[in-house]
Amino acid sequence: MYIRSIRTRITIWYTSLLTVTLLIVGGAAYGLLSYSLSHEMDSALHSVAGALIERDLGRSATLLPSEIDQAFRRFFGFSPWDQYFQMRDPSGNRDELRSLPSTGKLPLSRNALANALRGLSSFETVEGLGEYPVRVLTMPVMESGRVINMIQVGMSLKNIDETRLRFLLIMAGVLPLGLILAASVGWLVAYRALKPVGRMTAAARRIGAEDLSQRLNETGTGDELDNLAKTLNQMLNRLDAAFSQIRRFSADASHELQTPLTILKGEIELVLRSARTQEEYRVTLESALEEVDRIAHLVEGLLLLARAEVGILRMDRQEVDLVQVVEEVYLRLKPLADSHRIELRLGSIEPLCVQGDRERLQSMTINLVDNAIKYTGAGGSVTLELQRESRWASILVSDTGIGIPIEEQEHIFQAFYRTSEVRSLTERGTGLGLAIAQSIAVAHGGTISVESSPGQGSSFKALIPIAS
Ligand code: ADP
Repeated sequence: MYIRSIRTRITIWYTSLLTVTLLIVGGAAYGLLSYSLSHEMDSALHSVAGALIERDLGRSATLLPSEIDQAFRRFFGFSPWDQYFQMRDPSGNRDELRSLPSTGKLPLSRNALANALRGLSSFETVEGLGEYPVRVLTMPVMESGRVINMIQVGMSLKNIDETRLRFLLIMAGVLPLGLILAASVGWLVAYRALKPVGRMTAAARRIGAEDLSQRLNETGTGDELDNLAKTLNQMLNRLDAAFSQIRRFSADASHELQTPLTILKGEIELVLRSARTQEEYRVTLESALEEVDRIAHLVEGLLLLARAEVGILRMDRQEVDLVQVVEEVYLRLKPLADSHRIELRLGSIEPLCVQGDRERLQSMTINLVDNAIKYTGAGGSVTLELQRESRWASILVSDTGIGIPIEEQEHIFQAFYRTSEVRSLTERGTGLGLAIAQSIAVAHGGTISVESSPGQGSSFKALIPIAS
């Protein structure tokens, strides 16, 4: 079964882990307790037997129960009433005279007898002597390396068993209580820790595509949830910027398309209002064709940008000689520059080849040179250069034109952006040239940058990686 609530899952995990830990710790404590109790009893029995032997009991005729009692008292701290003591001769027969008569008879196992004859002591647990098992120590009494007697002391395991049982009962009571307490505390802690997540979910639900200005609350604590809120807010900032860009792009695109369409419609309506001469129709149609060309150009540019945006711009990948590209652009735009009385010249040209789409690289360069001519006054100059910059081929277009204010430089690569100075000029650009040029450079793994000072000129640099 899958549990949806993280809080419940954390609590279950936590409680299960705690249960396992407590069981392991409890088991270990129980084992340790049993071991040390048994160990203590064995060493006490050993000491009792040792003390009795030391008092020369091995040879004395009779035993006084008070002596045994004393020995038990000394080593156990009290004298258990079901204590056992008996003496045996080396063949294992019970010496009735020297055994404590009040208690039951301790058996002598074959193993204990064999050990005693070899001079070794044995500990055994014997059942059936009373309600509880009895721990028995069989110890030989030695004299000049010979076994002269065997002493057996025993004590009921009643106390040990009762202590163990008490421990188990305490554990059985405390463990579930502790677990219930720990689970409740765990649940509360998880509830408190995850509460901000609920608030964040509610806030995130309120933020729609239409209202991307809202942000999640940042607590400023620097914890994981605060980091999450920060990250989501950064994402919202990017989304907001992207949405605004899309909105601006659509508005600009419609506006740019509407202008030539309005002109086209006006011209056609005007010419249809009354009968016209052949010549007048021709002039109107030519002008209409110009507007249609402009619309086609715009749509083509928009399509290219849209494709580049989603990464499906069709591109040839072949070796392109950039010298040829630059020279062709130069020859193609020289007449335009001449007609504007601008000197278009070729600067230093290095032989360089790149992998890419010849047509697109050419139209990228045309865009840059065309702009340079458009935004340079008569008498100015435009220089076209091709140089190597480490692993890049750099196509440099510098002009002595109107320049671009610093604060506007970062915007000019956006579609439809025109600097304030240019907006007042009569020259009608599409506003897509640099955006398209940048997309082409990026599609080749390169980039275009600008350096410019208003009134002095601009210099556009396209960097394309050189074919290795
Ligand atoms: P446009 O069709 O308006 O030229 P672009 O995308 O090619 O559109 O250029 C965007 C804007 O960048 C231009 O409108 C102009 O303001 C500015 N710009 C581009 N190239 C130059 C240049 N060489 N000198 C000055 N301004 C430039």
